[in-house]
Amino acid sequence: MSNIPKNLREKLIEDFELKPAIIHNYEKSNDGTIKVAFKLYDGNIVEGVIIPSADRITACVSSQVGCSLNCSFCATGYLQYKRNLLAGEIYDQVFLLKNLSIENYGIPLSNIVYMGMGEPLLNYSNVLKSVEHITSPQGLGMSPQRITISTSGIAKMIKKLGDDDVKFNLALSLHYADNEKRTSVMPINQSNNLDMLSEALDYFYKKTGTRVTLEYCMIADLNDSETDALNLVKFARLVKCKINLIEYNPIENAQYKPSSKSKTDNFIKILEQNKLIVNLRRSRGKDINAACGQLANKLIN
Ligand code: SF4
Repeated sequence: MSNIPKNLREKLIEDFELKPAIIHNYEKSNDGTIKVAFKLYDGNIVEGVIIPSADRITACVSSQVGCSLNCSFCATGYLQYKRNLLAGEIYDQVFLLKNLSIENYGIPLSNIVYMGMGEPLLNYSNVLKSVEHITSPQGLGMSPQRITISTSGIAKMIKKLGDDDVKFNLALSLHYADNEKRTSVMPINQSNNLDMLSEALDYFYKKTGTRVTLEYCMIADLNDSETDALNLVKFARLVKCKINLIEYNPIENAQYKPSSKSKTDNFIKILEQNKLIVNLRRSRGKDINAACGQLANKLIN
């Protein structure tokens, strides 16, 4: 920037660091989903996805390089945890995905989910700072109601979100409403069991007035039986919530398969008979490894 005084340039170099995330490469699925690998200043790779649907364009962003929580059905769980992302690195993902959205679909993003690589609540301050930038008029000016932070369930930090009176949405990646079985696929459940989570979610709701979303991946013969559905009903009655059932996107590291249509239909029937609000989310971008962690796994390994 040779058009500003030398002493100011020196001051800028002293006081500021630029550590941008850049697009390393991206792929577009047959269904329009775009999966992006971002390269960070230190050479690490994280992923983001844009998912277009009839009424919205959703961007999914990462909050950590790798993840320490080792959920057995998740490709990121098989990557080593390296570090938290900086607030600016999370913001950069959203900014670059917004530009890609305009380029590819002619409209900007309508929704953002923190559901990519990493556990957002283990990178609490950077995640909240990134939301601040995304929602500020100097940033992207997006409404916090269009942002969802998804957690695998860190009870203490869910309560902290309530104390901080956040305005964005919260989703819990539940996937099992039985402690023993949930611990077998999500080791974090050992220290943050379902009782602690329902209490924390209730606290969050009472503080913020925001209904939480329970995310539940339908995995064949793992969590899709009638008993699993009834367990989910019991858990869902403890908190003000709606339920997103997600069609499972298989990964190379594990043998899990998506539930059949008849099992899924029966599961939905049981939830609806019990007056729960249920949405079924189809898996997107299967041909481009769009499940969280799949692309980085390929690029790293
Ligand atoms: S599901 Fe989330 S918390 Fe679990 S390993 Fe994957 S990225 Fe980490």
